[in-house]
Amino acid sequence: MTEPTKSRLSSVPSFVSATQLLASDLDRLAAAGRKTPCQYVLRQGDERFISEDRDERESARGLCAGCPVLDLCRAAAIEEQCSWGVRGGVDFSDSRTRRAARRQHHRKINRSETA
Ligand code: SF4
Repeated sequence: MTEPTKSRLSSVPSFVSATQLLASDLDRLAAAGRKTPCQYVLRQGDERFISEDRDERESARGLCAGCPVLDLCRAAAIEEQCSWGVRGGVDFSDSRTRRAARRQHHRKINRSETA
């Protein structure tokens, strides 16, 4: 199995969406019997990733830190214009955080295109 990596995003052709890549990596993880942290807690009925409570969402952000699809998840959330909840270690419920994540993502993409 090809291990999903946090750096996979930079080697991706621009015609492939982050959402498609994320789906493919999630399929590979599932085939290997693995779950992402959010899948694990959601299965247990824990909704901290989409909670109304900021502290609960902050704890969700901490869980993302060890996720094997962190960068792709964040890129897919930006691509999908996510406006609520925690994805890819970013709390998209906060508009300032959301804008900062988009700026950072676009800088990263621009750097990889000029490299
Ligand atoms: S990075 Fe994405 S897939 Fe991974 S735990 Fe966070 S929200 Fe879930």
